[in-house]
Formats: sequence, structure tokens, C-alpha cells
Amino acid sequence: MFGRAPKKSDNTRYYEVLGVSKDASLDELKKAYRKAAMKNHPDKGGDPEKFKEIGQAYEVLSDPEKREIYDQYGEDALKEGMGAGGGGHDPFDIFQSFFGGGSPFGGGGSSRGRRQRRGEDVVHPLKASLEELYNGTSKKLSLSRNIICSKCSGKGSKSGASMKCTGCQGSGMRVSIRQLGPSMIQQMQHPCNECKGTGETINEKDRCPQCKGEKVVQEKKVLEVVVEKGMQNGQKITFPGEADEAPDTVTGDIIFVLQQKDHPKFKRKGDDLFYEHTLSLTEALCGFQFVLSHLDNRQLLIKSNPGEVVKPDSFKAINDEGMPMYQRPFMKGKLYIHFTVDFPDSLSLDQCKALEAVLPPKPAQQLTDMELDECEETTMYDVNIEEEMRRKQQQSSQEAYDEDEDMHGGAQRVQCAQQ
Ligand SMILES: [Zn+2]
Ligand SMILES: [Zn+2]
Repeated sequence: MFGRAPKKSDNTRYYEVLGVSKDASLDELKKAYRKAAMKNHPDKGGDPEKFKEIGQAYEVLSDPEKREIYDQYGEDALKEGMGAGGGGHDPFDIFQSFFGGGSPFGGGGSSRGRRQRRGEDVVHPLKASLEELYNGTSKKLSLSRNIICSKCSGKGSKSGASMKCTGCQGSGMRVSIRQLGPSMIQQMQHPCNECKGTGETINEKDRCPQCKGEKVVQEKKVLEVVVEKGMQNGQKITFPGEADEAPDTVTGDIIFVLQQKDHPKFKRKGDDLFYEHTLSLTEALCGFQFVLSHLDNRQLLIKSNPGEVVKPDSFKAINDEGMPMYQRPFMKGKLYIHFTVDFPDSLSLDQCKALEAVLPPKPAQQLTDMELDECEETTMYDVNIEEEMRRKQQQSSQEAYDEDEDMHGGAQRVQCAQQ
């Protein structure tokens, strides 16, 4: 012994708790934990504190990262690292995950009722414009939720006592029977309304004055939802454990699901943007330039190359002007521009002559009077081809239906036989 040096935090106790040497392998740790946990399990009359310690020791030593921190800096370092509230798991959870859920004692019957229910998640849609998803934004939202009453710590009573609900004999559920018909009944199970499914009631005089025996009170809370650059439609933003609190319940999450609003000019496909632009025929043939106002209000100059002709229904792309990528906002998708060409509805004779003088010549195919005489005159008119096709389809399915009807009548078969 060299006297009292400043005391280093303990880094041997966990090994002693499990009864293994400092260089024990994972296998040895498992064996030691199994033995110690079985022996000291509170269901077998063991000391809960000791059982908890065994769980802690195993949790740390079976994790290489935690074990290294423990070996080097001791127990205190781990406690700091785990942060407030986040450290250490329920020793019964560790025990259960080790034995894979089944009871290691056999025969069962060790229901401790310690397993907590998980509260429901609360899901809210959150609308976001394309500008907001491009630039990122944060939205403050005010929500009200239930929290455990601070006055009674969720007991609901001043004394902390509660009684079994007489309405449901403490089960929290009631069965009702409904007559559906002369010989039919429906049995329905629903939460007891006297105790709201909790199975217990609180004496009127003993009720907590703050929550009136409800165990929870309403709280208004403002959540700041950060919408990051490049987030997608349908992406979830989760606030863990911010949903309604209830006694003996692990609080669920509040989840916001992004809903991207339509944009009048831009369409989004993944990280790419699509922009519609209509050119006049003159612009398509002789060149164009225009200003595109981007989602961050930058003004992009879009122009054709000299002598270039833009054809109707064609696309051009600009790199790195699409949407920023989620969590890599310095990288961006492409911006596609879709060109529509607005043709004039008609031209005067003079305009035709002027155009013919500059455009490539028509195909040389002059018809003689003789050939023309042999042709029949036709009349063409404008159609909306999509509508035309849709009508045709409707017609043919109606005919198929009619034919089917005929077949059943036998008329069709007779006709076929005669052919
Ligand atoms: Zn009840
Ligand atoms: Zn209360």
C-alpha cells in the first residue's frame, strides 16, 4: 500500500458481483450471469437489490464498449456517459431477454406484473410547402397532452390508496350482451366505464384535489418541429415519449408525418425537380431566354444556345438545381425543364410565303391534274384523340356485355351455328 491516493472510481465490483476474473470471456460471463440471476431472482426469494446489481454488472460487461470504459475509468464514468434518465435497463428486462421470454424456473406462475404497457403513439400530419422542404424550416406547434398529476404522482388519491372497482371486479373490462335477432346475440367486451378500464376506484373523499382522481392533468406544450432540407413527403419526425402520459405506462411518441403541398410551378420526383415552360413557335425556332425563380428565390437565367431549335415535348436538365438531399444538403438533384411549344392556330397567305422563303423546301411531290381527278375528296376535322379512344373503349365494353347477355339467351349460339 502506498497511502491514500485520490480514489479512482471502482472498476472491479462488477466482476466480483458475477464472481468472474477480470479477463473472463463472454461465455464465462453468460454462465456466471445465468447462475447468479437464477439464484438471486426475487421470484425465488432473492434480494431485489442484489438482483439489480447482477443485471447491471452483466449489462456492462457483456457490452465490449461499456466494458472497456468500465475497465479504464470505473463505474462513475459509465454513469456519466449514460446521461440523465437514459442509463441502465430494468433488471427484469435484461433477465427476460437473456432467457428469451420463457420462464427459466419452469412451471410458470411468476407473474410479477412489472411489465409496463406502452402508451399509444400520436400521429399528426404536417403540411410543408416545397419551398420549406428545399430551404428547411422550423414550425412551433402547440399541443395539449395528459401528464401524470404532480400532486399525487399519478395515484389519484391523497392517501395513495385505491379500491377494486365494483363495476368490473377489478378487471377493467365489462361484457355486454346485445340481442341481434330472435336467436342471435352478440357479446361485446368494452372498458368498464366506472373505472375507465383501470379496474380501481378511489374514495370520493380521498380524491386528489389537483386531478380529481383522474391521475393525469392536461398540459399545453409547444413543440418545435425542425423540417430539414430535403425531407420527403411522408417522412416522419418523431418526438419520443411526448405523447399522453398514463400511470404504469411507457409514454408513446408524437410523430409528425410530412405532407408535401403541391407547387404551382415545380413538381418533385425524389431529389429531382420538374419545371414546365411554354415557348412560342418563334422562341422555339429562333432562340429564347427567360428567368426562372427558384425555390430559394434565386433568379436563374435559362437560355438556348445560338442556332438551336427546341422541339415540342422535349426536356433539358440542369445539374445541382434540384432538391437538396436529406442530411447531405450540399448535394442536389437535377432540375428538368419540360418544353411545350405553342404553335400559332393559323397563318395568312403572306406569312406562309414568307416562311416558305426561309424554311427548308416542302417535299417535291407535285400531283398532275390526271392524278387529282382520280382521287376522292375528303374532309378532315379536329379531334381530341384521348377522348375519342375513351369513348371507343366504353362502346366496346358495352358491346361485350350485350353479347354476353345474348349468349345466355341462346340467340348468339343459333346465329353461330347457321354460319
Ligand atoms: Zn371498473
Ligand atoms: Zn392528482
